[in-house]
Amino acid sequence: MPGTGKQTSEASLPVKTLPGVGPARARLLDRLGLRTLSDLVRHLPQRYEDQSAEGRIADLQTDNNTVGSARGVIEATRWVPGQYGKKGRFMATLRDDSGTLSLVWFNAGYLREKIFVGQAVRVQGKCRSFNDYPQMANPKWERLDEEKLDGAPANAARLRPVYPLTEGLPAPVIEKLIAEALDRVLPTLEDPLPAELVAGHNMPALADAFRLIHRPAEPEDHKAARRRLSYNELLLLQLGIAMKRAYVAKRQAAPQLECSDAIDAHIRERFPFKLTDAQDKVIAEIAEDLSKAQPMNRLVQGDVGSGKTVVALYAMLLAVAARTQAALMAPTELLAEQHHRSISAMLEGSDVRVCLLTGGQSASRSKKRRQTLEAIAEGEFDIVIGTQALVTDAIKFKHLAVAVVDEQHRFGVMQKARLREPGETDAAGRHMVPHHLVMTATPIPRTLSLTIFGDLDVSTITGKPPGRVPAQNRVVGQDKSGEVYSYLKTRLERGEQAYVVVPMIDSTDDTAEGNNSAGLRNVADTAKMLNDVLGPQHTVAQVHGRLSNDEREQVMSDFRNHKADVLVATTVIEVGVDVPNASVMIVEHAERFGLAQLHQLRGRIGRGASSRRPLCVFIGEPTTDDALARMDAIASTNDGFKIAELDLQIRGMGDFFGTRQSGMPPLRTARIPEDLDLLGLARRDAQQIINTDWRLSQPEHALLRRVVHQHYGEALGLIDVG
Ligand code: ADP
Ligand code: MG
Repeated sequence: MPGTGKQTSEASLPVKTLPGVGPARARLLDRLGLRTLSDLVRHLPQRYEDQSAEGRIADLQTDNNTVGSARGVIEATRWVPGQYGKKGRFMATLRDDSGTLSLVWFNAGYLREKIFVGQAVRVQGKCRSFNDYPQMANPKWERLDEEKLDGAPANAARLRPVYPLTEGLPAPVIEKLIAEALDRVLPTLEDPLPAELVAGHNMPALADAFRLIHRPAEPEDHKAARRRLSYNELLLLQLGIAMKRAYVAKRQAAPQLECSDAIDAHIRERFPFKLTDAQDKVIAEIAEDLSKAQPMNRLVQGDVGSGKTVVALYAMLLAVAARTQAALMAPTELLAEQHHRSISAMLEGSDVRVCLLTGGQSASRSKKRRQTLEAIAEGEFDIVIGTQALVTDAIKFKHLAVAVVDEQHRFGVMQKARLREPGETDAAGRHMVPHHLVMTATPIPRTLSLTIFGDLDVSTITGKPPGRVPAQNRVVGQDKSGEVYSYLKTRLERGEQAYVVVPMIDSTDDTAEGNNSAGLRNVADTAKMLNDVLGPQHTVAQVHGRLSNDEREQVMSDFRNHKADVLVATTVIEVGVDVPNASVMIVEHAERFGLAQLHQLRGRIGRGASSRRPLCVFIGEPTTDDALARMDAIASTNDGFKIAELDLQIRGMGDFFGTRQSGMPPLRTARIPEDLDLLGLARRDAQQIINTDWRLSQPEHALLRRVVHQHYGEALGLIDVG
């Protein structure tokens, strides 16, 4: 690839090749994720300081409409506590050589620890006249280094980039290093995008975009640059998705599974209830997919308790009817065991052969496991149930036609799950792969489904089976826990069962989330406490991740058979556990759990068609705004789709990419949903490129292809089909 050699070497040089960067500074840069010159070039300004809008205090417009800014020294501060339930306000006086400006922030007691007399600060906001003095209410503010007080530096452009900082790295240092990196990297930086494409959209070339975003002369400059960089990022993502879709279409095929009326009736006979309309609709969509040679790639989303399991079972039985095999993968052994039990029960008396593939810790288990594996390879089992780890291992099927992944919340896994080692080839030379069905109780917001899931078909099970009474939710403080447990007793006396969820197994457990686990309730102590409170007429059982499989199965079966009234558990019961008689749940330290997790936990109760109103009590002491918002949200609705939206609001969409949950590298520049128009553009362009060159094998796409693989190869499970 002519020309790229130089670019690669220059851009990938470590930061310590820059003058003034020794080991200590390199470590500080490392903290910001800045290791190479290329990283510095990609370290974009958070915002710009508009130095032209800054004036002397005496010249500020006081129309309470024009945004102005000023810099000066804090001359006085005052905290005015709130009265009669009102919040307090923090007041300060700012002075420059032209006059004084009064500043007021409402509800901002924390500023007492941030703004002090003598400090140099810059403020920005709308200014009004108050008692004949200029005043800004709730202005934006930042602390200034002393040197910045005397106006802008000599070479100042009007817009000065402000970079994310880290302690010990003053702004001028970062600015200088980035300037240096730009000078060295940009001259040889090649644009991976075809030139006509970029020109057609009226966008700057890549090197120009970086130059403009770091050194804009006009406000429009950095906007155009940001647009180009966002588009770049989204195009790479969409190219990855389109490449994969093209690969599946051209190189893969799945067994066509017929669904006649006779087969349909035969399958339905097995279900102990009539399916809801929503379940019927989703099943029809799945049956349609399965009848085609194109591998199905479908996500079924439905709230906890909406009845996803029978939908999956229907798909699996279509595979069995066609004399092929199906696999069901669950996230935990507990859930795999439960699926095995309930599916075996529904299929009792049929000739469908179902097996559970468990871990092989003990000698007898590993022997049994080996035998099961052999039988699966011989086609002696029709339906194989296990955890994802077990099934994705080295398992060989005789003829796997449908693979179901249950309760999958990690979206990256959904993406990757599909392109696994290709099996045999069909007459057209396509690799035979199973159809894929992924089930989740965490719905995907539409905007996300456009970004990461361009190639995933989505079915939604709306509503719940009839007869469900929505849970009543209570959020209470720790001080109420005595009352909660004595009320629990009255519910147990009515024959109900309950879960009590705590964050730790015992006092030596260090798996609890966060590092501060002192004073947290654990399974062992809580069970002891409950034994005391509830007395001998009620039985308390315990379940957690440290029990062996056999012990755990025993506990769960006892609880299911009502040999225990209360099950004290860690979050091992979070997904899928289905005990219809359990109608009360108490979550201790609820503030420590994520919102989606709390909703999942709550999904364990109210699963039976009972007239008793299920009750969920969240005991918590939220201390952060986010925790408070989570507690509010969980109490406000039982609707999983609303919970998912609230969750996204609390955590922010930007937070989603690059998290463990997304499994995707973070988007650095593009913002969803703000950049949805660019996303549409990128989608269209990517499709056009892939239509003419689906492997990006043409020489003019060589760099593009390398970059797509670099960024999304792993996350999307792209196979390099050279
Ligand atoms: P989830 O969507 O959370 O996986 P499940 O598949 O475990 O939900 O179903 C929850 C409960 O509802 C189970 O006990 C299941 O047997 C029951 N169920 C599912 N579909 C129906 C239906 N159509 N009518 C009555 N009960 C149903
Ligand atoms: Mg389920």
